[in-house]
Amino acid sequence: MQTAIQPKYNLVTVTCACGNTFEAGSVKQELRVEICSACHPFFTGKQKFLDAGGRVDRFKKKYGI
Ligand SMILES: [Zn+2]
Repeated sequence: MQTAIQPKYNLVTVTCACGNTFEAGSVKQELRVEICSACHPFFTGKQKFLDAGGRVDRFKKKYGI
């Protein structure tokens, strides 16, 4: 059995830098993460805003602003 060689897992509250919290299994008592599914660009679509910013820059160059 795999459980025989694995350390005991606790159900801990993970705190993200964005303020979101969620529960996860971990060997630690508590977890802090920089990024989570609630604030990761892949999930929030923030990447699209970065793309839009690039488009604005190109627009400015084209019209010499
Ligand atoms: Zn987060």
